[in-house]
Amino acid sequence: QNALLEINDLHTGFNIDGEQYHAVKGVSFNVGSKEVVCVVGESGCGKSVMSLSIMQLLPKHNGSIDKGQILFKGKDLADLTESEMNSVRGKDISMIFQEPMTALNPVLTIGFQLDEVLLNHTDASKEQVRKKSIQLLKDVGISRSEQIVHEYPHQLSGGMRQRVMIAMAIACEPALLIADEPTTALDVTVQAQILELIKKIQNDKGMAVMLITHDLGVVAEMADKVVVMYAGQVVEQSDVDRIFHDPKHPYTKALLGSIPKLDEKEEELYTIKGIVPSLKNMPKQGCRFVDRCPEAMPECKQIDPQLGETNKGHAVRCLLYETSQPGKKAEVRA
Ligand code: SF4
Ligand code: MG
Repeated sequence: QNALLEINDLHTGFNIDGEQYHAVKGVSFNVGSKEVVCVVGESGCGKSVMSLSIMQLLPKHNGSIDKGQILFKGKDLADLTESEMNSVRGKDISMIFQEPMTALNPVLTIGFQLDEVLLNHTDASKEQVRKKSIQLLKDVGISRSEQIVHEYPHQLSGGMRQRVMIAMAIACEPALLIADEPTTALDVTVQAQILELIKKIQNDKGMAVMLITHDLGVVAEMADKVVVMYAGQVVEQSDVDRIFHDPKHPYTKALLGSIPKLDEKEEELYTIKGIVPSLKNMPKQGCRFVDRCPEAMPECKQIDPQLGETNKGHAVRCLLYETSQPGKKAEVRA
C-alpha cells in the first residue's frame, strides 16, 4: 500500500557562484490520502524549497533535485515530462501560496482566471465552466460570486483573494493540496476563517493537505501528522498529540516554548536565540542546530545525528537519543 505522496531522501540544491548548496538535504516523509500533514519550522528551513520541488517549480537557472524520489501515487514526479507535469499541477496536486496577489494575474478578471483552470483540465464548454466557477466561489464562502467573476484581483481584500486562490486550487478536486503559509499575510480573524475553510474543504472532498507553516497554533488546529524541519532536514516527526505533549528534539521544544500566550507581553516571549544558518554557512559536519541548542554536547559538532524512531511513529534526529546515533538504527518514516 503506497502513500499518496512519498518523499524519499530528497536533496534539492542551488548553484551559487559555481558551488552546489543543499537547501533540502535528505528529507523523507509520507502524506497519506485524506491526511493533513503540517511541515513546520522557521523561515529558511527548506519548507518552501521542498514544496517547490514536489511541484517541479524550482528556478530553472540554478535549482535542481540532485537525489531522492518524490513519488505521487507511486510515480516519481521527477520522471514526468513538462507537459505531463502540467497536467498533474492543478488536477492532481494544487498549491496555494502566502501572497495570493502575486499568484493571481492583475490584468485578468477573477472569472477568467478561474475558468482557465477548468478549461485546461476538463472538456466542459465555456458556459458550463462559468457556472462551475460561480459555484466554486460560493463554495469558498464568496456570496457575491456572480459579481466577483467580473472583478480584478486588486478590487478584493487579501482574505477574498486567498478564497479565490483556494477556489482555483480545488476546482479540479485534486487529491493533494499543498498550502505554503496560506494565512501568514492575512490579519488574525481572516486567518482563522481561511484555516476553517481549508479544514472544511479537506473534510468534504476527502483531500490530503500538506500545510507549510511556522505557526504552531496553526499546527495544533489542523494537523494529523507533524514534520518539523530545521536547516533542510527533518528533525522530528510524529502525530500531532505527541509533538505537543511529548516533544523530543530541542528545536521542537524551543518552537513550542515560543508560542505566544495571551497573558504574556510581547517582550517577555521566549524566542530561540540565533538564526537558521544560511546555505553558505551550513556546518559541514555534526548537528545543524548545534549553535542554537541549549542541550548541545561536545560530540554534537562532530557526529551527524540520524533520524531514528524513539517510539513507533515518532522519529527524532538528535544525539540525546540513542536511536539517532549513526550505526544504531536505519532511517525511518512516521
Ligand atoms: Fe542539540 Fe546535540 Fe541534539 Fe543537535 S544533536 S539537537 S546539538 S543535543
Ligand atoms: Mg517559506
